[in-house]
Amino acid sequence: MEVKRVVKEAREAFESGVTRSYSWRRSQLRALKSILLEKEADIFNALKLDLGKHRIEAYRDEVGLLNKSVDHALKNLKKWMAPKKVDVPLAYFPGTGEIVAEPLGVVLIFSSWNFPIGLSFEPLIGAISAGNAVVLKPSELAPASSAFLATHLPKYLDNSVRVVEGGSHVGEQLLEHKWDKIFFTGSSRVGRIIMTAAAKHLTPVTLELGGKCPAIIDTLSRARDIEVTINRVAGAKWGPCSGQACIAIDYLLVEEQFAPLLVDLLKAKIKQSYKDPENAARIAHKQQFQRLSNFLNDSAVAASVVYGGSLNAESLLIEPTILLNPPLDSEIMREEIFGPLLPLKKIEDSIEFLKVRPKPLIIYAFTVDEKLKRRVIEETSSGSITFNDAILQFAVDSLPFGGTGESGFGKYHGKFSFDQFSHGKAILRRSFLIELSARYPPWNEWKLQF
Ligand code: NAD
Repeated sequence: MEVKRVVKEAREAFESGVTRSYSWRRSQLRALKSILLEKEADIFNALKLDLGKHRIEAYRDEVGLLNKSVDHALKNLKKWMAPKKVDVPLAYFPGTGEIVAEPLGVVLIFSSWNFPIGLSFEPLIGAISAGNAVVLKPSELAPASSAFLATHLPKYLDNSVRVVEGGSHVGEQLLEHKWDKIFFTGSSRVGRIIMTAAAKHLTPVTLELGGKCPAIIDTLSRARDIEVTINRVAGAKWGPCSGQACIAIDYLLVEEQFAPLLVDLLKAKIKQSYKDPENAARIAHKQQFQRLSNFLNDSAVAASVVYGGSLNAESLLIEPTILLNPPLDSEIMREEIFGPLLPLKKIEDSIEFLKVRPKPLIIYAFTVDEKLKRRVIEETSSGSITFNDAILQFAVDSLPFGGTGESGFGKYHGKFSFDQFSHGKAILRRSFLIELSARYPPWNEWKLQF
């Protein structure tokens, strides 16, 4: 009943036309900004409760990024909304063409538990910028963040933006309704459920899914390059939400001769920066903890641990762990890890290795070899590629973010978010001035000249 009422009210709000104006969009974006500023401490608190995130990490990965994204949308909103003139063929003279961005209508956003504020706000910014009414369903597995969103969004935003809390059962109820767009962040398993439900109404979907993001580590020779690589690899594995991030490095591909040095340096980096649980997010929930510990129950995988490997089921902590050459057919090498376990695979040709695997969200490659970079671009397929860094691509508004193949489809961030929630309506204008009779029957040879 609650779901039905919320959906009906969101639909009425959209149909009233209120969400279409520039002033509504700007006021709602400003309201999002106010939440981030005025309720920052509450957000930190929710992220601490749900995931044990340190407030500096919470600022870096969620609040700070979102401030940037809202500012970017506010700065560019007028430009994004403006009709875009396009060229039309000379033969259409006098005639002009333009593309007008039209809101899609009422959109449903599902977010995941790992960045429960960030991955709710980020698509919300796009949906509001594009003039839509929104129903947001946060993940039940980050309950404090979900409660924060359900409490504060209605206080700051008008009733065109609604929050519905609950688990998969509520998700299923929401999917029974007709939406104009569904934007989903989560697993490929639920992504398939979303697409099936959307097909019933031909609703367009965006699926932001996961997968195994590899990092190719070329044999580097300069000490400085190696040092920076270690910082960035460690930061992209044990940094964001302790590896529970779709853009975290899943595993490393390394040449035989470089592997021992890499392992030693990564061990030292863990000891220096990632040992203290106070600085790390914990494993989010029991189910996720169990899934990760199951990887290590495989005796061949357990035997490949060269650092770490201790688990505490009570405090939901898993030590940053390095595994050297676990078997390729083991679960840890086939499934998305989504946690602080880092397999390192010795490999001769990483490109050939990647070509036969599902398309990941991101491929990372640390190398100074331009030929290798070109091969990664030309011979592999992934949502995006980052050379010599990791994670940062997520914060670049001028680059689209999203997957391909099994890592999902649809792009967002910056203007791509606006486009994702808009329909680019084509408009051709002509006048009555010139008329060519050659367009119409009766047909004759003379008309063929045109
Ligand atoms: P999930 O698929 O279990 O849940 C996502 C959302 O779907 C939640 O809101 C959940 O309540 C809802 N849901 C679950 N079952 C449902 C059902 N039967 N019907 C309708 N809704 C249902 O995903 P998760 O565990 O929250 O997130 C982990 C996954 O998300 C990982 O695979 C990760 O890689 C991926 N992810 C991707 C991105 C990205 O931007 N590409 C970002 C974060 C996480």
